[in-house]
Amino acid sequence: MKADMSRQRVDRSKDSRLRQRRIMLLVATVAAGLTLVVGAVFAWGAIRSAPASAKAPMPKLSLARVESELTTATTMEASATANNRIQVPAVTGKTVEEAEIILAAAGLSVERRETAQVVSAGTAVVVVSQTPEAGEVVDQGTVVVLRVPSVAMTTTVTTAQYVVCIDPGHQAKSDLKPEPIGPGSNETKGRVMGGTTGTSTKLPEYEVVLQIATNLKTRLEAAGVTVVMTRTTNDVSLSNSERAIIANNSKADLFIRIHCDGSTNSSASGISTLYPGKTKWSGTIAAPSKSAAESVQASVVAATGAVSRGAVARTDQTGFNWATVPAVTVECGFMTNPVEDKLLASPHYQDKLSEGMTNGIMAFLRGN
Ligand SMILES: [Zn+2]
Repeated sequence: MKADMSRQRVDRSKDSRLRQRRIMLLVATVAAGLTLVVGAVFAWGAIRSAPASAKAPMPKLSLARVESELTTATTMEASATANNRIQVPAVTGKTVEEAEIILAAAGLSVERRETAQVVSAGTAVVVVSQTPEAGEVVDQGTVVVLRVPSVAMTTTVTTAQYVVCIDPGHQAKSDLKPEPIGPGSNETKGRVMGGTTGTSTKLPEYEVVLQIATNLKTRLEAAGVTVVMTRTTNDVSLSNSERAIIANNSKADLFIRIHCDGSTNSSASGISTLYPGKTKWSGTIAAPSKSAAESVQASVVAATGAVSRGAVARTDQTGFNWATVPAVTVECGFMTNPVEDKLLASPHYQDKLSEGMTNGIMAFLRGN
C-alpha cells in the first residue's frame, strides 16, 4: 500500500508539472498573439494617421520663391533649394525699378552703382549689367549689384549757367531827351525812339516785340536758360543805355534786343540781325557778338522761311555801345510791308521767330 501511495504521489506530481507547462505555453501563445494584433493595429494607425511622413522629403520653398512665382513670370527662374540657395534672376536690360522688384521677390538684396554713362531726366533707367550674373546660385539675401547709368539733369544743369537778357525794343511812350551814344561820348541820341507801326494791323512795334520777346523767354527757360527781361510791360521808362546796363549787371552771356523794321518802301521785307561793329567801346564783345548774330540770323531764317538780309555790323546804336556783354538786335521783319506786318502779329509766326532765335542762341551759347 505504501509503495502504491508513493507511486500515486509521484504520478500526481508528474501530472501537475505537465499541467503547469501547458498553462505557461498557452499564456505565452496568447501573449504573443495579442502583441502581434496590438502591434498590427498600432502600425496600421500609424500608417493611416501619417501618410505625409511616408513620402520622400520635399525641397523647402521659401516665401520669397512663392511670391516671385506669383508676381512675375521672369522670377520663375529664381529657384530656391532646401537650404535657401537662390538662382539669380536675369535683370540686365530691365528698368532698375522692375529689376529691384524681381530681385527682392527672389529674396535677394540690391545695390545700385552708377556707371559713367549719363541719361537725361525722364528717360527710363535700364540695368546695364548685374553681379552675380543670371543663373548663378547664391544664398538668400545675397547682394546683387546693378550697374545703371546716372540720371543727369543734363539740359537743366548744363544750361542753367547761361543767362540771356532780352530787351523788347521801345515802350508805350517814346523819350526823346538826349543821352550819350556811348560811355563818355559827346554825341547824343534820344533816350528811346517811338518805333514803327503796322501798316495793316496798326499795331505799334513796342507791342509786337513784347509778344515775341515773351515767347522767346518761355522757350529759353524751357531750354534751361536764366532769362532777364528789361521790361515785361509797355508802360516803362527805360533808355537804350539803361537797357544795356541791365544786361551788363545781369552778367548776361547774350544781350538780345527784339525789334521790327520799317521802311518807306512797302515791299521791303525780311529779317536781319545786327551786332556791334568795331568802336572804342565794342572791344572784346565785337567778335562774340558777330558770332551770335550769324548763328541767330541763320536759325531764324531757317525757322521762318523769311528773306535773309544778313548779319549786319552797326556802330551807331546806343544799346550796343553801352553793352559790355555780347549783344545782337533781331529785326524780325517789316511792319511797313502789309504781308509781313500780318505775319508778325500772328502767334504762330511769332512762335517760329522765337523758335529760330532759341536755336541760334543755344548754338552760340554752346559754342557750335
Ligand atoms: Zn525798333
